[in-house]
Amino acid sequence: AIGDELTSGERLDTNSQFLSQQLGLLGIPVSHHTTVGDDQSAIAAVLATACVRSDVVVVSGGLGPTADDLTRQALSEMTGRPLIRDEQSLGHIRALFARRGRTMPERNTIQAYFPEGSRPIANPHGTAPGIHLAILRAGDAAVDLFALPGVPAELTEMWHSAVCPALAARLGPARRVIQQRAIRCFGAGESQIESMLPDLIRRGHQPTVGITASQATISLRIVAEGDSQSQCQEQIDAT
Ligand code: ATP
Ligand code: MG
Repeated sequence: AIGDELTSGERLDTNSQFLSQQLGLLGIPVSHHTTVGDDQSAIAAVLATACVRSDVVVVSGGLGPTADDLTRQALSEMTGRPLIRDEQSLGHIRALFARRGRTMPERNTIQAYFPEGSRPIANPHGTAPGIHLAILRAGDAAVDLFALPGVPAELTEMWHSAVCPALAARLGPARRVIQQRAIRCFGAGESQIESMLPDLIRRGHQPTVGITASQATISLRIVAEGDSQSQCQEQIDAT
């Protein structure tokens, strides 16, 4: 998630919450969230790290037309691929302004530039197209990187129309399922509840069992990963 409004605490990063929930529905476990401010070399460094440790990277924000929107420049810096103008995307941006009866500010042309070899992701209700980039890694599958605008309504729409179908295609028939169930407990403390349980909370237990305290409620969250919903449910029931 990219933006000074996030790192400063002015705005809560709900896009990462949405993306994690959606990736979970696809059976893709999420290993990291990173939030970084509007700083090109910091963004490039974070993206480089993400592409080493993950097979899929989803980026939110920094695709606007203003000087503090630096995601595409950071992608270019990170990959060494120059930014190239896409005429079809430029046409879309011009048409959007024309429909609203406004002339397009010169600055908006930057939104039609993409790192060489990337695929624009249509943004029907906003000016900034998203960016889909396959990044090759030596001896490993390519990383699928998707950069989406920060505006939650646009990000959500583009997730459903483009990113989710692309990831489902990548997973193919080997697709996994993740299911969760929560058990809420009241009256006993966190460590007391843990001591009442068999050895479930240790690292490596399948399904995983996590314990979180919020106000007076202690929640046990069981997360199972399997080949089918029924296989997950069986594991969850037993646990
Ligand atoms: P654009 O959407 O024009 O491409 P952008 O992607 O950088 O630009 P911003 O202008 O930074 O988006 O943010 C647009 C709006 O989306 C702001 O209201 C911002 O607070 C909100 N926003 C950005 N990132 C997030 C996030 N991770 N979670 C929730 N809201 C966000
Ligand atoms: Mg921004």
